[in-house]
Amino acid sequence: MLVMKFGGTSVQDAAALRRLAAIVADRRRESPVVVVSALAGATDRLIELATLALHGQGDFAAASLAELRERHLRVLADLGGGAGREREELNAAFAALGELLRGISAVAELTPRTRDAVVAYGERVSPILARHALAAAGLPATTADARRIIITDERFTAAQPLEAEIQRAAAAELQPLLAAGSIPVLGGFIGATRRGVGTTLGRGGSDFSAAILGAALEAERIEIWTDVDGMLTADPRICPAARRIQRISFAEAAESAYFGAKVLHPATLLPAMRKNIPVWVLNSRNFHPGPPDPAVTGTLITARQAGRAQRSTDPCATVACISSKRNVAVIDIVSTRMLLAHGFMKAIFDVFAAHQCPVDMISTSEVSVSLTVADTAQLPAIADALGRFAEVRYEGRKAILCLVGGGMRNTPGVAAAVFSALGDINIRMISQGASEMNISLVIEDDDVPRAVERLHARFFPAAAAAD
Ligand code: ASP
Ligand code: MG
Repeated sequence: MLVMKFGGTSVQDAAALRRLAAIVADRRRESPVVVVSALAGATDRLIELATLALHGQGDFAAASLAELRERHLRVLADLGGGAGREREELNAAFAALGELLRGISAVAELTPRTRDAVVAYGERVSPILARHALAAAGLPATTADARRIIITDERFTAAQPLEAEIQRAAAAELQPLLAAGSIPVLGGFIGATRRGVGTTLGRGGSDFSAAILGAALEAERIEIWTDVDGMLTADPRICPAARRIQRISFAEAAESAYFGAKVLHPATLLPAMRKNIPVWVLNSRNFHPGPPDPAVTGTLITARQAGRAQRSTDPCATVACISSKRNVAVIDIVSTRMLLAHGFMKAIFDVFAAHQCPVDMISTSEVSVSLTVADTAQLPAIADALGRFAEVRYEGRKAILCLVGGGMRNTPGVAAAVFSALGDINIRMISQGASEMNISLVIEDDDVPRAVERLHARFFPAAAAAD
């Protein structure tokens, strides 16, 4: 049993959906369950629609809704399915969405719960198109309702899955379809509470749905089909020399996802990690039939990174990737009272907690604490509050660079290699992560391209394979 998730660009039009069908056909004998995102851009459009409705822009909302409906109908027609039951299903869904938007206009209120109800339509309708594409390719496919399977808590817009319930529901809803030889198709990102009220898992949540389902069904593997060749050693827009990572561990992938690698949603890997199910990131535009092979395509994420050194005399051999988080601010907090005092750290973190401002990186000395935050809106207020007991300075336009690699902890010389590669680039803060699988640095945001390029050249020399 296999869970195959196709992202927005892998279902965005008839050509993409035909590729999806060809890929699923290739895996047919492995009993695939197909999870699809909304068509690329559809979720953004739905959020806009909800906002337009809220602000009484009913005409704009209606026009924009009609456009979204037309787009879906056009894809269906391009797949040769213009007149059948799919058309009726799409029309019914968009009619219900229209009602919902009129309701939002009428009450001029948009609760998180209602917002979830609106954005869920992207993933409620995309499975209809995917099912049709599969049927057109001669594959028996059945849509399943994700809201009957992905049971969640009531945190609308960022709901958490309830594992035991999902395991029961997935068995009840999907196993009979699989047993009958059918291919279940369902929307990612969406779920429902125990009482059946629709929820969503947060932006990018379809990856998470796939991992949740993979874990619930104890899949042999989870395939995340996207529009790039896999996870990369660096952001290719910053560093053209970036290349595909063949294998990476769950812990490394999660660490790099948190610090800016956009391919996977950071929470995605947790359910797969707990059940030790391999996750593949694969390119739907670059499909190689047969079992995936990391030597040829994609990135394989497993419990242990095979191939790369766990311990090495060569620092290069231990780094999986370089990620960056741009445009953060650094706050320096200095107090002589910190000397030999207790409770100082607590006082600092109480301020950040009171402003609900997450802190990314910290480094401390005897009398000072430096930390970074991504959300700069609250900085003046935070500095004010900290200023009551310490000297405070803050500066924006900084970036965090993060080298991730599980073998770093046992390998001397990694930091030295980092410093020598960076040369004259000024390092503002350094932290070796508690996980011992990352080294993070804060530099000027403007220095990011230079710095990444130099580090990449040092840690991923052109001749070596990126595994
Ligand atoms: N469609 C949702 C989004 O754009 C979920 C996903 O694609 O993963 O965030
Ligand atoms: Mg995504």
